[in-house]
Amino acid sequence: MSAQADILRRRGWCPGVRRPMMTGDGLLVRLHPFAGRVSADQARLIAQAARDYGNGHLDITARGNLQIRGVREDTYPALLALLERGGLAEPEGNGPNRLTVLSPAAGLDPLERCDVLALAQAIENAAGAIQDLPAKFFVTIDGGAAMPLDTLGADLHLLAMGEDTIAFAISSSNGPRWIGTSTLCRTPEAVHTVLSGFAELRRRSVAEARRLRDLEPDLVRELAARAALSTAVEPTLRSAGPRAGVLSLDKKSALLLALPFGRCNTEQLIQVAAWSERFSSGELRLSFTLGLLLPKIADEHVRALIDEAGRAGFITDPADPRLSLFACPGQPDCGNGLTAAPADALRIAESCGTVLRDGATLHVSGCPKGCAHPGKADLTLVARGDGRYDVVPDGSTRDASSIHHSIDEIMLRLSTVTSTDSLRRAFPESPR
Ligand code: SF4
Repeated sequence: MSAQADILRRRGWCPGVRRPMMTGDGLLVRLHPFAGRVSADQARLIAQAARDYGNGHLDITARGNLQIRGVREDTYPALLALLERGGLAEPEGNGPNRLTVLSPAAGLDPLERCDVLALAQAIENAAGAIQDLPAKFFVTIDGGAAMPLDTLGADLHLLAMGEDTIAFAISSSNGPRWIGTSTLCRTPEAVHTVLSGFAELRRRSVAEARRLRDLEPDLVRELAARAALSTAVEPTLRSAGPRAGVLSLDKKSALLLALPFGRCNTEQLIQVAAWSERFSSGELRLSFTLGLLLPKIADEHVRALIDEAGRAGFITDPADPRLSLFACPGQPDCGNGLTAAPADALRIAESCGTVLRDGATLHVSGCPKGCAHPGKADLTLVARGDGRYDVVPDGSTRDASSIHHSIDEIMLRLSTVTSTDSLRRAFPESPR
């Protein structure tokens, strides 16, 4: 166990178990289990840690990680020791806590075009120890099945286009920018080449870039050539995957449970652990959809599980309007928070439920960092120091805005909204 933990207060850092981050409600400790997989015993241990050493609040993040909130500096060493005993602490180091992010259905979905879990493990082995990558750096590995990962904003996005063809992309504000393809067996080595080349550029100060997407195009082309990627092919776009509900996977089903804004408490986590043993395989998977997936449920148990989950506060209906809503903890839970983002998001959901149910997306961010949702939304609100919001129709927290309103003014504008188009038109002063 490290005797002295780094306690991070700087922007741009990515907290872990060994690197807690100070926020508005105490230390935040983020766990990054491989493929988001956690056993029922580990889930109970995490709940115990959150109850005994934190404030009992947990978040599931937009990368499918799990964070314990409200840990005190004096109890942090005991929490670290407990998580280490449970095999839940990441290796020592300053780089990414975990390189790869997968769909929670990885290895379960018969439509996957390659063995995603094996590929992810090979990439972790080949490239997980590269020095000087930014701590927030991550690679998504998408098997081409029902839950696309292309909106997660990964530094490097890999998509299986066939059994032996993996497409490589770098995220951009307009979605993935495809830079080449590799065969399946060469992919871990090609990823290593791209990532170590990027780290080398940073070391030599050739590039100031914190993310691959910040590199000049000729440097990206140079990295793709070094990795011997073949000519880029633009894959067919897939529609977004489900965020809640029953997934039919192979011979059994899986239930994707969503949590409003990804927040849960220790009782809910203990309850999911119990369901995983009673109805499933004793495993649960953290999902980038801000929830948990219970795999391998026999069909005759699905109805009972949905009913119990609904009573325990989980969202199981894919049409629930709260699924179209993204909000970070904001004020007072996060030290950077400038507004109470979740409360403002729920106010809007109450008046715009129909539009959200029809699929329009709304992101309320407590500061420009945009932790809750890295991509675009039909409407993004970014908190400002004066307590108002920057309003960004059809954009993300990274986009500049010249429209600034209080939440009351925004509510007034949205009171007549009936469709996604009218949601955008509610702010006619937008240049978009
Ligand atoms: S986006 Fe939200 S959670 Fe992230 S740093 Fe800002 S206020 Fe905190």
